Amino acid sequence: MDHFPEKHKALVVDDSAFQRHMLSIVCTEAGYLTVLVNDGVEALKALDEMSFSLIVTDLEMPEMDGLQLIRELAEREIKSKVILVSGHSESLLDAAKQLAEQFGLTIAGTITKPYVPENFLELLLDASLVNPEENLHPQYQGEFQGRLSHKLVARGLEHDALIPYYQPKICQETSALIGFECLARWKTDNGKILSPASFIPTAEEYGLMTKFTDAIVQSAFEDLSYWHRRGYELPVSINISTDNFKDIEFPERIMNFVEHYQVPANAVILEITESKVMEEARECLEVMSRLRLRGIGISIDDFGTGYASLKQLQYFPFTELKLDRSYVAAAIDHKPSRTVLETGIQLARNLSLECVAEGVETEEQAELLVSLGCPKHQGYLYSKPIPSEDVIPWTSARFYDTQGGYLAQEGVNLTQPAATPIKKAARRYH
Ligand code: C2E
Ligand code: CA
Ligand code: CA
Repeated sequence: MDHFPEKHKALVVDDSAFQRHMLSIVCTEAGYLTVLVNDGVEALKALDEMSFSLIVTDLEMPEMDGLQLIRELAEREIKSKVILVSGHSESLLDAAKQLAEQFGLTIAGTITKPYVPENFLELLLDASLVNPEENLHPQYQGEFQGRLSHKLVARGLEHDALIPYYQPKICQETSALIGFECLARWKTDNGKILSPASFIPTAEEYGLMTKFTDAIVQSAFEDLSYWHRRGYELPVSINISTDNFKDIEFPERIMNFVEHYQVPANAVILEITESKVMEEARECLEVMSRLRLRGIGISIDDFGTGYASLKQLQYFPFTELKLDRSYVAAAIDHKPSRTVLETGIQLARNLSLECVAEGVETEEQAELLVSLGCPKHQGYLYSKPIPSEDVIPWTSARFYDTQGGYLAQEGVNLTQPAATPIKKAARRYH
């Protein structure tokens, strides 16, 4: 008989009392009512009594092992999501997963023992089996890169949780600093910094991207204006979603910022991903053109992921093309990736666009890109994204102002970021 029909239940099947206990703690923290059993036989008995939304089972157990249990679950047409655990190799887990899926079961993930509770939680999050805000014990909140909930994102947007980080763009050929890309980060209540993967999907799903962009654009303009007033006259690139490029009022909002913060329009570059712009080309074209007319730069991001052709691209008012980092990462050993890079570089040249390679991590990649005709780079080889207050110290430690450009100081090797930590400067605006 089901005494808790409204609460999600998890069944943990493991012959080790210690593992059972560990797994059950995480399930409970994730908001499940958890039932613990020793092996497959007991698991089937529990399944006769009630239904479970999640079953976590070890593969190696006495009496009835995990593989037999999988077969029984399939025969009973159990709809629960299943997580497989094993102390053996990952290949055994993969084989068991394949088998279970062939039987029609839904496998939410696999874990190798000994496991760490945080990884198990992460797995539950990835499989959307937990809502971090609603269910999670506060101890775990912000301790992993899971997806933030709708409530958390909506509340954070009102309370300055969103902060900009900046990653430099470098020209290898001239040793010049050519700008920064603004990359959003999320600061949790306990000070942990999360990447966009934790909050952008939620913002997109719940229609919060306009608010999100307004907040990040405002911060980027504040920083840009602060740097320009101090003589650091470099452009900043901001990532913009297609929702904004379809919003006919967006150009006016951007121009209001340009006026309010007294920065030149050509110091602002808006980036849009290739795949998205190709899907909604017509809707985005007008807004893009208006922005371009006002002097704002428009960059096509993640080139190589969206199959844009020369014919399509020539109608768009792009000023820059960014080669996707997956091709940069693979180019050394993978000829087809190199071909994509070559195509992008050629396209940029034909359309008179700036061409920037993203995700440059090694000297070898940098050299290859230069030899292919793309000397403008962004990547960990030069610097990871840094907080806004580190931008001036980072820049002044490596570059000097030549009245209109920032060139590397003598003796500074741009591909070997300084070992000494950057001094934190106090953030002051207005
Ligand atoms: P993106 O626009 O392609 O940004 C580049 C991503 O590559 C960033 O990830 C950056 O940290 C990472 N990256 C840079 N250099 C390297 C490298 O050498 N190696 C590796 N492995 N990665 C590198 P991040 O910051 O996690 O951002 C992910 C994506 O989230 C961005 O991809 C962008 O599409 C989106 N995003 C970030 N900030 C914003 C924002 O303010 N608004 C919007 N709409 N999207 C944003
Ligand atoms: Ca970008
Ligand atoms: Ca990109």
